[in-house]
Amino acid sequence: MHTYVEIRASALKSNLIHFRRATSTGVMAVLKSNAYGHDLELCTRAVRGQADWIGVNSIEEAIRVRKVDDSTPVLVMGANDKADYKEIASYASKPVLVLSTIDAIRELEDHLPGHPFHLKVDTGMSRLGHHGVSLQKIFSYLSAHPELNWCGLMTHFANVEDVTDQTYAQEQLNRFDEASAFAVSAAGNRKLAFHTAASGAALLLPESRRDLVRVGISLYGMWPSRETRISASALTAQGTLDSSFKLEPALQWKTRIVHINAITAGTAVGYGCTYRPVQDSNIAVLPVGYFEGYDRRLSNKAHVLISGKRAPVIGRVCMNMIMVDITHIADAKVGSVATLIGTDEKESVTADDLADWMGTINYEVTTKIEPGIPRILVD
Ligand SMILES: *Cc1c(COP(=O)(O)O)cnc(C)c1O
Repeated sequence: MHTYVEIRASALKSNLIHFRRATSTGVMAVLKSNAYGHDLELCTRAVRGQADWIGVNSIEEAIRVRKVDDSTPVLVMGANDKADYKEIASYASKPVLVLSTIDAIRELEDHLPGHPFHLKVDTGMSRLGHHGVSLQKIFSYLSAHPELNWCGLMTHFANVEDVTDQTYAQEQLNRFDEASAFAVSAAGNRKLAFHTAASGAALLLPESRRDLVRVGISLYGMWPSRETRISASALTAQGTLDSSFKLEPALQWKTRIVHINAITAGTAVGYGCTYRPVQDSNIAVLPVGYFEGYDRRLSNKAHVLISGKRAPVIGRVCMNMIMVDITHIADAKVGSVATLIGTDEKESVTADDLADWMGTINYEVTTKIEPGIPRILVD
C-alpha cells in the first residue's frame, strides 16, 4: 500500500496523562467519528486502561469499541435509532446512551428496560437537549419514574474555541448549574455524573470540569483552535496551567512517489491547466486525492515533505492523485516517502497547516482521511 497513516500510541497516552494532570478529574477519551480519523479500534486499544470513559457518536461505534475493550464505560453521544437498541442489549458493560426528550426516554424503557442513560440539556448551543419549561417537564417525568436508570447530566459549549473571552461559556455553565440543582432533586437516590467540558473548556474553564472532561481533538495532540492555544499560554503564565502541559500530534499521513515527470517551462499541470512552471521542472505524482481525503481546496496551496524538504502541490488536486514540484529535491525517486501530515527531518506539515490552506479546522482535516487507508500503530 503506497498510502498509510501512522498513529503513535505514546502520543495518545502522553496527551491523556497531561489532561489528567491538568484537570484532576475523570477523563473521557472521545473516539467518535472513527477516532477523528485516527481509527477507532486502534485508538481504543491504545488508550485501554488509561481513560475513565470512551465517548462515541453511534451505537455502531459503541459495538466496535466493545469488541476491543469490554469494560471501560462507553457513552454514545450522538443521535441514536431505536432500531439499533437490540444490538446493545446483551453487553455486561452496557454502552450508556445520551437522551434529551421524554419520548426518547420512554422508547428506551420500552425496548431496553433499565438501560443506563445520561440526559443532555441545552444551555446555549441549541442543538440536542431542552431548556426552560420543557426541561422542567423532563425532570418531573424522571422524578416520577425512579425505576429509570438515569445516571448523568451533560451539556455542550457553543463558544469556547472561537474566542478568548469566555463570557458565553460562563453563562452556559450558570444555566447548567441551575439545571443540575433540579436534576439532583429529581434524581432522588440515583447518583448522577455531571459533565460539560470538551478539550477547550477542560483547559480554560476549571469550574467546567465537574466529574469528567470529554477530550477529543487534544487527545490526538491538536489544539481546538489558535484562540484556545493563546488562552492556555496566558493561563500558563499565570500559573493556572502547568508549564509542562504539552500536546503531541499522534498522526502522520504518508504516501510514496508513484511517478516522476520532467516537464519544460510553461507546460500545464493538471485539470484546468491552473499551473505552468516558469522553469524546466521535475514533477512527482502522489497517489492521494480528494477521495483519499486530501481536500481539493489544497490545490496550488499545500506542501508535502520529501527527503526533509518542502514540495509544493501544483495544479489541482485530482480524485486520486496530486502533483508536487520536486525540482529542488535531487534524491527524490519513485518509491520515496512523501509526508502529507507529519515531520520529516527539520520540516513539518501539521493538520493545522492543512486546515489553514483549506479554510477549515483541524478537526475536519483528520476526520476526512479515507477510512480504508491503513492505520498503523507505531511505538
Ligand atoms: C465531539 C465532542 C466532544 C469533544 O470535543 P473536542 O473539542 O474535540 O474535545 C465533547 N463532547 C461532545 C458532546 C462532543 O460531541
